[in-house]
Amino acid sequence: MSIFTKIIRGEIPCHRVYEDEHVLAFLDIAPLSPGHTLVIPKEEKATLDELSDESAAAIGRVLPRICRAVMQATGATAYNVLQNNGAAAHQAVFHVHFHVIPKTADGRGLGIGWNAGRLDPAAGRELAAKIAAGVTPGR
Ligand code: 5GP
Repeated sequence: MSIFTKIIRGEIPCHRVYEDEHVLAFLDIAPLSPGHTLVIPKEEKATLDELSDESAAAIGRVLPRICRAVMQATGATAYNVLQNNGAAAHQAVFHVHFHVIPKTADGRGLGIGWNAGRLDPAAGRELAAKIAAGVTPGR
């Protein structure tokens, strides 16, 4: 169980911005910028690939609404949605969560390192086919 389960259960307080049967959203306790919000499924899964289709659909339905509300409330016009999976990918809390991070005029928000490579056409064809073959419904 992670700290987010305790927040879902109301055992730890949060600044809640949205809740329904499957989803909870609340302000991040250590924001990168004002309005930094976490959107989480109530289903207890560590990483996105483990999430059921039902929870995934519930999050997908409300995520844009929450983004709109965060932008309206903060006045930001740009933002990032970040979703980390695994310690090596900067995940610290092992319960699925989407960060909604406004970018402020003075540059606060998410900093991104983007070490882009080049996609080889043959390798890309092979890899895309391999990934496509593995796309199956969640539980
Ligand atoms: P991660 O690195 O796992 O993607 O991000 C976890 C996020 O959860 C961090 O931004 C951190 O500030 C936030 N966080 C950790 N503990 C709490 C908490 O108890 N309450 C709230 N509101 N946010 C938390």
